[in-house]
Amino acid sequence: MSVMLSRRQALMLGLGSVASMGLAACGNSGAADGSTSYKIVTDTLFAPFEFADASGKMVGIDMDLFAAIAEDQGFEYTMDSVGFQTALEYVKTGQADGVIAGMSITEERAQIFDFSDPYYDSTVCAAALASSEIASLDDLKDQKVAVKNGTQSSLWAESIASQYGFETVTFDDSATMYQDVSAGNSACCFEDTPAMSFAIQQFATSDGTEGVDFKLIGENADEFATPYGFAIVKDGNSELLDKFNKGLANIKASGKYDEIIATYLG
Ligand code: GLN
Repeated sequence: MSVMLSRRQALMLGLGSVASMGLAACGNSGAADGSTSYKIVTDTLFAPFEFADASGKMVGIDMDLFAAIAEDQGFEYTMDSVGFQTALEYVKTGQADGVIAGMSITEERAQIFDFSDPYYDSTVCAAALASSEIASLDDLKDQKVAVKNGTQSSLWAESIASQYGFETVTFDDSATMYQDVSAGNSACCFEDTPAMSFAIQQFATSDGTEGVDFKLIGENADEFATPYGFAIVKDGNSELLDKFNKGLANIKASGKYDEIIATYLG
């Protein structure tokens, strides 16, 4: 496929999304004609779930899934890419109705959010520069490792930091986290496996300017493996959650779900 994943683009996107990030009144009666329009938020870069294509348009599994579900259920929405931690914050504080961002369903988050049915199974991993001597977590002693703010993989990193003797450095988005590893500042980064594998594959299948030239070095933290879910604030608009679940079931039954996954993951 022809979608691009360059750090430069991702960074541009990050800046762009901050500039265009409106604080429009959130809510389910936002549309001028009184019909329902939900305010949905997402990450800036979490390919292949959400990322900017060559023209700057947000694409990805989450984007297509949500569009297909909204169409199936007949509701309107806006989608703002504000960053992962910010997206969660927006939903928590009522500035957005829902978040779809490859968000791991965890017990801890279930205290604050209500999750949809799971829509994708994921695991966590660590990755270093392909050319580096780091081959496993055991090689991380006295090294800096890059993590992304508020993520499941960052919790995994922090839980094993003292065991392996590394120090974590936190970034707000995957683009700057990958960049820190590419620049040789951090020995590796911790990320969800589908996102990391996709970025590595992008590098391998392009002319070398897209994606990242990394290798996986650790991927066996079963207790941090989770499915992804769409989330609303706890005890919030269950109507939206119901629509998501119904739409998800329908697009799974129709084959649309498989088609979307295949578009991005072959
Ligand atoms: N699945 C991870 C989490 O929920 C990361 C999501 C993301 O970076 N967008 O913590």
